[in-house]
Amino acid sequence: MAFNIAIDGPAGAGKSTIAKTLAKELGYVYVDTGAMYRAMAYFFLQKGINKDDEAAITEAVDGADVTIRYENGVQQVLLNGENVTGCLRTEQVGNMASSTSVYPAVRTKLVALQQKLAKTTDVIMDGRDIGTCVLPDAQVKIYLTASVETRAKRRYMELMEKGEPADLEKIATDIKERDHRDMHREMSPLRQAEDAVLVDSSDMSIVEVVSAIRAIAEEKRGLA
Ligand code: C5P
Repeated sequence: MAFNIAIDGPAGAGKSTIAKTLAKELGYVYVDTGAMYRAMAYFFLQKGINKDDEAAITEAVDGADVTIRYENGVQQVLLNGENVTGCLRTEQVGNMASSTSVYPAVRTKLVALQQKLAKTTDVIMDGRDIGTCVLPDAQVKIYLTASVETRAKRRYMELMEKGEPADLEKIATDIKERDHRDMHREMSPLRQAEDAVLVDSSDMSIVEVVSAIRAIAEEKRGLA
């Protein structure tokens, strides 16, 4: 049976940075499930579909074939055969993903793909519902969080480094709204799984978080 590490938590908690680093160190495959929801969102945006139109989104889902592949260990997301990885990390796509990930048609399709990936491969998978819904039997479950202020500052720095326009207050407001939507949606809301270890990264460096989670994984692996 494959060894699975599930990392859940709110937007901007550092999940992808931590998971990527840890995957490299442990030789696991990193699966970024947020990128899959973003690829779907990108598809809906291209089609001009309104985020509130559940019927149109449900109908459109069948036309969006999302797959992932790895190039030099880095996840690439393909939408209907086209590599859209470079188009996914904008605030517009992130907000659309947050709004459209509430719909069962979207979740059902992507959860099946995620479960298939983790069945045969040692993965570190990050998202919102990995420990609670996608991989309930994952050997390691982490709930990684940080204060809204810390998360907003991190996103702000990320955008500044990329030379993109950034407004700290607007980012904080978006994060709060996204948290609310992710935590209060009907299907698979974001919450800490009962058997997940809580890691609050507000006052921790990346190195500290990686080593804390690595220690948990290695202890479990020794017992697995
Ligand atoms: O993590 P990231 O910000 O890339 O995710 C984009 C959006 O996709 C999130 O705001 C969330 O609503 C949704 N998502 C989800 N379930 C996951 C991963 C992401 O609902 N497993």
